[in-house]
Amino acid sequence: MKPILPDIRCPECPFKDSPKEYCGIFAAYDLPNAAKSTYYGLYALQHRGQESAGIVSTDGSQFFSHHGIGLVSDIFGDAGTLDSLEGRVAVGHNRYSTTGGKNIHNIQPLTSNFKDGYLAIGHNGNLVNTIQLRAELVDSGAVFNTTTDTEVILHLIARSRYGNPVDKIADALGQVKGACCLVILINDEVFAARDPRGYRPLSIGRLGDGWVVASETCAFDIVGVEFVRDVEPGEIIRINSQGLESYRPFPAARLQQCVFELIYFSRPDSRVFGHSVDRTRRLFGRSLAREHPVEDADIVISVPDSSNSASLGFAEESQMPFELGLIRNHYVGRTFIHPSQSIRDISARIKYNPVREVLEGKKVVIVDDSIVRGTTSRRLIRMIRQAGASQVHFRVSSPPIRFPCFYGIDMPTRSELIAGSHSVEEIKTYLGVDSLAYLSEDGLYDRTDLDRDDYCMACFNGNYAVKFEENFRKLMYEEVQTSLLEDKPLE
Ligand code: SF4
Repeated sequence: MKPILPDIRCPECPFKDSPKEYCGIFAAYDLPNAAKSTYYGLYALQHRGQESAGIVSTDGSQFFSHHGIGLVSDIFGDAGTLDSLEGRVAVGHNRYSTTGGKNIHNIQPLTSNFKDGYLAIGHNGNLVNTIQLRAELVDSGAVFNTTTDTEVILHLIARSRYGNPVDKIADALGQVKGACCLVILINDEVFAARDPRGYRPLSIGRLGDGWVVASETCAFDIVGVEFVRDVEPGEIIRINSQGLESYRPFPAARLQQCVFELIYFSRPDSRVFGHSVDRTRRLFGRSLAREHPVEDADIVISVPDSSNSASLGFAEESQMPFELGLIRNHYVGRTFIHPSQSIRDISARIKYNPVREVLEGKKVVIVDDSIVRGTTSRRLIRMIRQAGASQVHFRVSSPPIRFPCFYGIDMPTRSELIAGSHSVEEIKTYLGVDSLAYLSEDGLYDRTDLDRDDYCMACFNGNYAVKFEENFRKLMYEEVQTSLLEDKPLE
């Protein structure tokens, strides 16, 4: 057997072994207090990014902005901050970095004054030709204030030779490749756009005479917004005093919606790509139970919260009781001091604790949505066994993640993905379970009405629809800065 991976933990959070989320965006037009609605929207989208957040608003003559590092509630928590963001128009952003580090300059929305006025931009996704575009812009004299790919888009819009703002945005998006959902404020108008392959979700809602755009529909519910429709792949929308206009400047491309939005990233109370996330996850769980039943188990438990829906589906299909065998502590802050080697197991116990009375003497099926490095899963299994389970059968409601994502999800490198270099049998041995099985790629589509041709599954099968720059690294521009400061060439 190949050597098992070192016990690596995410540097961001010692408790989590999952792929990292990658930003949420929100825009409000013609709402009585647009910044406050944006705040609540970002609050609902907090799961998509916890590093930093920002809101830019306008009353039509002045612009107001506030950005900060941390959670939305910490950054905008006091009423005075939100009250200072005046006006009926606002755009906001939650960040988890996928290009560029988490320094304060990279907080979005990015803002700039350009020849047509004021511009603020928030981006969800990740470009795969940033190195080339940024080099071309720098060569032509562009000055960068951040290390993000979003600033590349900002420059391309600002430098476009077209006169109309929609044409400028289309001109910019025609040059970028990869995943790109945007909310943009140009003077007192709001624009939203989704790349032609539709990697990330983006929806439109209405509140009275006003309009709202958000990454997920759960952000509508919190402010009483009525869902209207999704921003279509390749569509640019413009919202101003004339209402909402739609533009489709790009030729149709084969859709590559991120199936992981439905497996793990989006909230179960959202509708994403036209599907209820909760209902879809339940069907994944049902398919998993049919593909890989555990005949004589006593109970099904989930790894709360993201695998709750799939676990319920598995239990329903198996006609087994669903029990709460693991309890999650929701108050684990990201600032918790990382435990030392000697108290490493505490890290898993801080976030999850087993319920002995549920598990003792039971043959347990535990359902999770994915396994990334496997380290957290291994600790959870140990915990469940220590709580007295007589058997532990692990079921995963997605195929093995073998390849990294270049379209806006911060995943480990291939060598750090346990399924990237180990067989299912080897992973089973590493986790210490009685059996292990993953849902197949077919299983994602068998019971659901998802059209397989419309979804990206590159992290499972390596079929990347949009070619990426091989030498891209998330922190490459920080590395350039460091090497310049140290006066040494970047290797
Ligand atoms: S590679 Fe995986 S996580 Fe990335 S967009 Fe495709 S399906 Fe989503």
